[in-house]
Amino acid sequence: MKTSSGVRSQKSEDRKIRNWEDKKIGILNFSTSQLLNFTLLLFTFHFSLSLMGCAKKYNMYRESRILMDTFCAITVVSPSKEEAKDAIDAGFAEIKKLENLLNYFSSESEITAINRAAGENPVRINRETLEIIKKAVEIANLTNGAFDPTVGSVMRLWGFSSQDSEQSVPSEDKIKSTLRLIDYKKIKINTSASEIFLEEKGMELDLGGIAKGYAADRAIDAIKAKGIKAALVAIAGDIKGFGLKPDMQHWKVGVQNPRPEGNPPKSPHSPLWKRGVGEDFKGEQEGLSEEDIFATLYLKDKAISTSGDYQRFFIKDGKRYHHIIDPKTGYPAPEVISVSVIAPEGYLADGISTGVFVLGADKGIRLLESMGLEGIIVDANKKIFLTKNLKGKINLKKELRNG
Ligand code: ADP
Ligand code: MG
Repeated sequence: MKTSSGVRSQKSEDRKIRNWEDKKIGILNFSTSQLLNFTLLLFTFHFSLSLMGCAKKYNMYRESRILMDTFCAITVVSPSKEEAKDAIDAGFAEIKKLENLLNYFSSESEITAINRAAGENPVRINRETLEIIKKAVEIANLTNGAFDPTVGSVMRLWGFSSQDSEQSVPSEDKIKSTLRLIDYKKIKINTSASEIFLEEKGMELDLGGIAKGYAADRAIDAIKAKGIKAALVAIAGDIKGFGLKPDMQHWKVGVQNPRPEGNPPKSPHSPLWKRGVGEDFKGEQEGLSEEDIFATLYLKDKAISTSGDYQRFFIKDGKRYHHIIDPKTGYPAPEVISVSVIAPEGYLADGISTGVFVLGADKGIRLLESMGLEGIIVDANKKIFLTKNLKGKINLKKELRNG
């Protein structure tokens, strides 16, 4: 049973196998690319591009690894394999660094140190950890607490925050008595001293709702710093792209169908995510075939993040319990099943998509439009809601059937 959130990997290092494989795949031949073991994938896409007055050939290079307890893929456009590899390594190094700082399960991580000292003393932390906590509080303010990075204690009750314990429905009393530990206003940030203090004993920070988007931002920065002019970073459903591909198109991404007909939706945290890699390749995500996707769009120097009730969940007595908790009730947010947000920054898309999931379709669309962000929401009746600014920019493949 899946239990951990995106920042909670401890085994990823073991599972990572570096296997830098050169694979020539013609542009019409995506469907013949091989499905490799889920531990690692690297494709090199060879496309030719004659730039005006310049004979340089730009190719797409891609590598996947398991980090943050999920599948990460980095694709860069580069004239040389060596430069591409250097940039890809730099991108993954950023993600790995954040994983180490934010790993909930590691006794060494900064998040664990902060949680352990809750109600007792402030903890001095790395600037990077301080930065992401500030961003989490920013999102909490923007969503009026629908996104709250102090959901950790309630996540733990549900078993979503443990790699070992079974997930189960906690007693109502337990949820009620733990709810008081969710309050982002009790995160005290001392920027000059680079310290964080959680005011109540038992409070727990959980950055699973924002960490992957933030990590995508940092990875893209590292890739840009290597001089790369176009790249796509995908950390499960948190994707950020910039620049143009060798075919002069923007990066095309698919939005996952939360209820594909006949099959359960694939969780990006499970090995199934890889099934079908390259076979029915749509957009630049791995592991998603046509029936898994209900919409496509182009990312123009932006990030997209999808929060879904299929990503981590369990079924008890026929009822689905998933990993996005309404901080007001302590129960999984019931109104919608999928939210995708497109924003200039990954952390914003990630945090807001989790917050909008809690707010529901009407309030969610209003919030997105007031912030000038684009979004797609699927409610529990499979009705699709789009922000006005997205109309005409998205290709909806099919209606989602009720039932
Ligand atoms: P995923 O991590 O599966 O990509 P999300 O970005 O939507 O999905 O984040 C869900 C994660 O966010 C949960 O696993 C948990 O760590 C955390 N979380 C759950 N509910 C909330 C909430 N209301 N506010 C902030 N974080 C939350
Ligand atoms: Mg999120």
